[in-house]
Amino acid sequence: MSRQRLTILGATGSIGVNTLDVVARHPGRFEVLALSAQNRVERLAEQCARFQPRFAVVGSDEAAAELENLLRRSGTDTAVLAGADALERIASLPEADTVMAAIVGAAGLRPTLAAARAGKKILLANKEALVMAGSVFMQEIQRNSAVLLPIDSEHNAICQSLPVNFSNDLGRSGVRRILLTASGGPFRQASPQDLERVTPDQACAHPNWVMGRKISVDSATMMNKGLEVIEAHWLFNAPPERIEVVIHPQSVVHSMVEYADGSVIAQLGNPDMRTPIAYALAYPERIDAGVAPLDLCRIGGLSFEPPDFGRFPCLRLAYEALGQGGNAPAVLNAANEIAVEAFLNGQLGFTRIPEVIERTLACVGWSEADTLEAVLAADAAAREAGRRFAAVPGQAA
Ligand code: NAD
Ligand code: MG
Repeated sequence: MSRQRLTILGATGSIGVNTLDVVARHPGRFEVLALSAQNRVERLAEQCARFQPRFAVVGSDEAAAELENLLRRSGTDTAVLAGADALERIASLPEADTVMAAIVGAAGLRPTLAAARAGKKILLANKEALVMAGSVFMQEIQRNSAVLLPIDSEHNAICQSLPVNFSNDLGRSGVRRILLTASGGPFRQASPQDLERVTPDQACAHPNWVMGRKISVDSATMMNKGLEVIEAHWLFNAPPERIEVVIHPQSVVHSMVEYADGSVIAQLGNPDMRTPIAYALAYPERIDAGVAPLDLCRIGGLSFEPPDFGRFPCLRLAYEALGQGGNAPAVLNAANEIAVEAFLNGQLGFTRIPEVIERTLACVGWSEADTLEAVLAADAAAREAGRRFAAVPGQAA
């Protein structure tokens, strides 16, 4: 069996590191062809020394010089490249079989699209790319016979719970609803007054998952679940009314599919991203992921409750943006990235995140977004408006 050759975009992040952990358990199956990181050069240098990729891409010429230095010292002959074009290049290398798309945010869109155009097997962690450019992205996947496997634990669970021969038509497959589980984040039971005072470190301390800071804040505002509703729409061709969010604080049931006959099929497991990563890497086979067995007797109980759209307006805003379609999800995503960044930098209160997004959505006019240019224009307009709203305390710009 020839080894599966992998490019990992965002190798130094939480998903990237977990991917390399699974890969290292199966040296006979996988070969690392290329890695990328924005600026964590030391970690990337260690990864290169260990996995000996042919290419490594970083965000700037300075980072590239630093990486070259470190690699020379360890005698690693990985070729170092820098910049956005280089990311597209390693995402579409003719030798690559599989691309793990694990860059955070809109920066992941172009390289992930490049992988789609090159007809790769894409392991999609970068949900923002699909949220902002769902229509463009899914067209490129189909046109180039690329294979798309979701890494987001919920969507991966849905994949595992849908019929094996799912035809992209929920009705024809006898599916009534997709039940997307959500932990509720660290502030599930916080009062509105507590929410006012939330700090970045509190928001990033997720009760069940260890993740990058941006997605951790998204989980705390529940925008993460909103983005996942939009992600599910594109992945499974599901209208919003067929996607229901269920709060499940234990994060053991990763999502469910409800069928017309009343059956509900769920995927369960410990909250460890190596499970969906291993599933997608080895699909349709199953391999060891290093994940501890699920001990249901120790967990004792699984509970479920409806989401509170009043306390978590981001979830409502995401459903509304999906309903509006066109450029609205791209505007929602860009405004969220700006607001989260301002919050993490101490420039914006936690409860103002949805306010900045709502104002941005009202400010940037609706339009179609079925070309990459239209998506990027919506993204740019929303970033500009979002920055203005985030800078002005509590009033319209
Ligand atoms: P992270 O912040 O830990 O890592 C992000 C990676 O992207 C890093 O390697 C970083 O160097 C790179 N990066 C950041 N900005 C970049 C830019 N402008 N250009 C190029 N590269 C850049 O994030 P993460 O938690 O690993 O999440 C990655 C993606 O996976 C996100 O889209 C997130 O929503 C999704 N995801 C993560 C988890 C999780 O458990 N961490 C679960 C589901 C989905
Ligand atoms: Mg998720």
